[in-house]
Amino acid sequence: MFDKILIANRGEIALRVIRACREMGIASVAVHSTADTDAMHVRMADESVCIGPPSSTSSYLSMPALISACEITGAQAIHPGYGFLSENAGFVQMLEDHDITFIGPRAEHIRIMGDKITAKDTMKALGVPCVPGSEGGVNDVEDAKRVAAEIGYPVIIKATAGGGGRGMKVAQDEAGLEVAFRTARSEAKAAFGNPDVYIEKYLQRPRHIEIQVFGDGKGRAVHLGERDCSLQRRHQKVLEEAPGPSITQEQRDRIGAICADAVAKIGYAGAGTIEFLFEDGEFYFIEMNTRLQVEHPVTEAIFGVDLVRQQIRVAAGLPMEFQQEDLKINGHSIEVRINAEKVPSFSPCPGKITQYHAPGGLGVRMDSALYQGYSIPPYYDSLIGKLIVHGRDRDEALARLSRALGELIVDGVDTTVPLFDALLQEPDILSGNYSIHWLERWLAQHFG
Ligand code: ADP
Repeated sequence: MFDKILIANRGEIALRVIRACREMGIASVAVHSTADTDAMHVRMADESVCIGPPSSTSSYLSMPALISACEITGAQAIHPGYGFLSENAGFVQMLEDHDITFIGPRAEHIRIMGDKITAKDTMKALGVPCVPGSEGGVNDVEDAKRVAAEIGYPVIIKATAGGGGRGMKVAQDEAGLEVAFRTARSEAKAAFGNPDVYIEKYLQRPRHIEIQVFGDGKGRAVHLGERDCSLQRRHQKVLEEAPGPSITQEQRDRIGAICADAVAKIGYAGAGTIEFLFEDGEFYFIEMNTRLQVEHPVTEAIFGVDLVRQQIRVAAGLPMEFQQEDLKINGHSIEVRINAEKVPSFSPCPGKITQYHAPGGLGVRMDSALYQGYSIPPYYDSLIGKLIVHGRDRDEALARLSRALGELIVDGVDTTVPLFDALLQEPDILSGNYSIHWLERWLAQHFG
């Protein structure tokens, strides 16, 4: 096992990893930019190293700075968290050259899944059901028209290098296709440096259902059921729950087995998430994330498993501490993402926290790096906390969420808490009846 791990991240996810390290008796090293000198992850880690100025490119994304920090502190492994360098195959390769272990999958798997066309081809070959669409990429408008006519409108044009909900354009009919195709290509080139796009059928009212998988890197893998992340704004998740309110045990077993089998076959190591759209009882693969997800705590809650601990074990060459038959669902869990943003514009709202009180009690987990007097810097993501509740069933989880939101105090900046207070009054949310388009429609009705 490692003696010391460096966490190449900040905020709540850095704390999450430090906590796992501490329980495992592993020393932790925090890294930080000059804007994060007073951040909680720096205070909580055993050691810390300043790796550069505020801009992420010169600090949290600086590979040489991170490698030097490992060399200075003697850290043997890096946990990347999510975002930043967590899905960068070049980084993994570079760490390998420096004899530093990356806590995550092999570079090869990150590369395959990081290119959505290759990911889809690979998954299809492994027997995973995919959204109907083009075979590979589409290179010109004529090709796009032919594919769209075959699969039927509406269609969505997606960037193979896309991510974070960016690089997608919907075309309702042939008249709109040409513009959508050209815009998607030029946006993809500008945002990701790669103009390649592909076409999929645009599903009208699917749910976003993702399967948590975990592999030991030696050909064994399990699944930990699904998370329903359908509540989205601009293709970004806002609230997540597990198990999915619309998924039956039979559906879970079927798709879970397909996913576990697929990652076992490629010898995948560590945590991964296979994302699907789910409509009329059918699953359609959209992409795989080769890292720990923001919403992993809802899975941890219902399975009683520490996913970060398992990631560290597998990276150290140890076996997973469970097999498929040990993984039984207990109750229901919901997570809400608390952002420092003004509702309803969702514009970022950095600033000083004048008062902070985290909710507590049975079945409540608050993952946050906030503290009273802390100043949220303007340079990074606006996620400031995740409130996760666990109950014996969905109704209990909802009641607990409402109670916990009432206890939470974050003063000094605007947050997305009022959005969740309002959503918890909505019959569709209370009954679990929502698709990926529900929130955008609701926001348009209430604030449009
Ligand atoms: P990203 O990598 O940017 O997150 P994804 O491929 O995971 O992109 O898609 C993000 C979201 O976009 C999905 O959760 C869904 O809301 C929407 N989406 C993607 N593909 C389709 C599709 N074929 N039909 C309808 N909505 C889609």
